[in-house]
Amino acid sequence: MKAIQVSSFCHALTVHTLIYPFASVSISPHVDPKTLCPYCDTPLPSTPSPLLLKILAALKKKSQRDPRPSNPLGLRAPLATFIAACQRHRFESQILPEAERKGWPKAIEWNRVGARIMKMKGMLQALIEDPSDNTSGTESKGKDPDDWEVVYASNKAKRGGSQKRGKAGSIFWTEIMEEVRQKGLRAVSGVRGQFANFEKAQPGYYGEIGSVIIHQTLYNMFPLDEMDPAPILPLTANEFVQRVLVPEVALHLIMEDKKLSGDVGVKKALKILRDSSAYGVAMFPEDGGE
Ligand SMILES: [Zn+2]
Repeated sequence: MKAIQVSSFCHALTVHTLIYPFASVSISPHVDPKTLCPYCDTPLPSTPSPLLLKILAALKKKSQRDPRPSNPLGLRAPLATFIAACQRHRFESQILPEAERKGWPKAIEWNRVGARIMKMKGMLQALIEDPSDNTSGTESKGKDPDDWEVVYASNKAKRGGSQKRGKAGSIFWTEIMEEVRQKGLRAVSGVRGQFANFEKAQPGYYGEIGSVIIHQTLYNMFPLDEMDPAPILPLTANEFVQRVLVPEVALHLIMEDKKLSGDVGVKKALKILRDSSAYGVAMFPEDGGE
């Protein structure tokens, strides 16, 4: 989870550059002061996230009343105390409209996500067990690929799937193997690889909360120490989960959300996954919400 904290920090730095000038004019008679930030007096988002409401409520306890011409409901607190709240509402005013335009959810039924992932077990199992071209080849000789194809094809048929199957059909596996070929395994694996590829391990608009649920559910379904290392070489079980299974699950959740299917659907969902990752981290941070 260290990488997640690093990203949140980087994100905070980005938001930091959006710092605002303090409003100094009197409030317009058409503006309800309740719709203004009590600290910087600029408009709050029309639908503040649960996290923002929580931050503002906690902050209020540390603040003093400070009615002023620009905001009769103004509050006063040290800058260091309220800056995070202002960064947050700025973010929600600017990024949320984009999210709305693009149809990224502002609320997710978290208590259903685990069960939705468990329904992907057959597909994920097949993805793990599929003997890949990228292994040294000797380990998987004992398996009969035709058997596997039958099982996987029937799973796939239920889901209205795509042409390619198994690892060859996983964009994430294909990408990481291409990276290994180009840059070598060390650039992709280990701490350095994890850091460099942090963005790619994000589950799109499911954000950090989604990431936690996806990880937990995957580890329950496929305990790392029980995963056959041969078909996932040269990755470790943990790397395979991070770089292939997590984004694969997220991709399928997004396909379900958006009712996408087939190869075209995969492409659309992949674009959403990548475009909405920064939004997901900010909208559904691990320590926020509930
Ligand atoms: Zn503010």
